Amino acid sequence: MNIPLVDLKAQYQSIKPEIDAAIQRVVDNTAFIMGREVADFEQAFAEYCGVRHAIGVSSGTGALFLTLLAYGIGPGDEVITTPFTFFATGEAISQVGARPVFVDIDPVTYNIDPDKIEAAITPFTKAIMPVHLYGQPADMDPIIEIAARHNLPVIEDAAQAHGSLYKGRRAGGLGDAACFSFYPSKNLGCYGDGGAVVTNDDNVAERVRLLRDHGRVSKYEHAILGYGHRLDGIQAAVLSVKLPHLDAWNEGRRQRAARYKALLADSAVITPQHLPETTPVYHCYVVRTPHRDAVVERLRAANIGVGVHYPIPLHLQPAYRFLELERGSFPIAEQMSNEVLTLPIYAEMTDEQQDYVVEKLLEAVQMEG
Ligand SMILES: *Cc1c(COP(=O)(O)O)cnc(C)c1O
Repeated sequence: MNIPLVDLKAQYQSIKPEIDAAIQRVVDNTAFIMGREVADFEQAFAEYCGVRHAIGVSSGTGALFLTLLAYGIGPGDEVITTPFTFFATGEAISQVGARPVFVDIDPVTYNIDPDKIEAAITPFTKAIMPVHLYGQPADMDPIIEIAARHNLPVIEDAAQAHGSLYKGRRAGGLGDAACFSFYPSKNLGCYGDGGAVVTNDDNVAERVRLLRDHGRVSKYEHAILGYGHRLDGIQAAVLSVKLPHLDAWNEGRRQRAARYKALLADSAVITPQHLPETTPVYHCYVVRTPHRDAVVERLRAANIGVGVHYPIPLHLQPAYRFLELERGSFPIAEQMSNEVLTLPIYAEMTDEQQDYVVEKLLEAVQMEG
């Protein structure tokens, strides 16, 4: 057997006629950049997230960058976030000229630890950016409470959390603004790069709309200096086809996650836990073992597409050497980066495929233990 980390081909096969027709429609109309397809998707996605505005942009990184700019964050400012995330979270903060200030994670959820945020706030702090890692919303109520006390906006990095719930509300509608990625392998992915900013704040929405398209207010009139960070028509058309399937796909992932948990219950492998108030969407199914590297090697040799999200926390990245944060600065993030591994998970996965992954994982853990 050969089991990929995600199987985008299986998903495409399940919706091929709809996708092919949508792409052909864009080509027939030559509506390649922005236009009707983008506006239609924006409306559907805003409704889905339970917010007033969704603004389609060029990527998740672009969404983070433009949102930070929309809040006026720049050089001399600080943004509080987690060191245990995809690099783009910190990178976007740096791109606007601000400084990422990391706060260690909770060892159970791997998300930013709300109890450690307040100590990181300084007079330069301009926002808090929690990441809903692996598709589990961060513990938002205490984060929002701290932010409110210090008059700071909360910007969700929801790039892994399309459709996840916190106390019955969807990720994207929890903070002041949220950023999504539609990178192909995300729970809602397009067929290239894409992203969105969602918010209930009319001013932030207006700023992001201007910034994504050269500050343009009409064809050749530019109100402010902006950027080329638009979403294109083919991506929006693909996303409009996929959005109605998202809840069923997420439910499929949750079923696979529950089955992994049951199959691994009596093993030495640590399986993910979620807060009772969250409904995660398992963008990644992440387990832990102290012999991670050797186990990963064995699984790859068995043609299983395992991943490591993420092997190097942001403060130890070569690119962030200038922050002068030493090993030991964020011990929980560092421990997790040495122990986590991501198992294949997708809605189309079969019991037979999953059994094979579990069998090889248990074998590998036993040999390394
Ligand atoms: C994927 C991802 C991003 C970046 O999204 P792109 O569309 O690849 O630019 C940002 N943050 C997190 C947590 C992600 O997983």
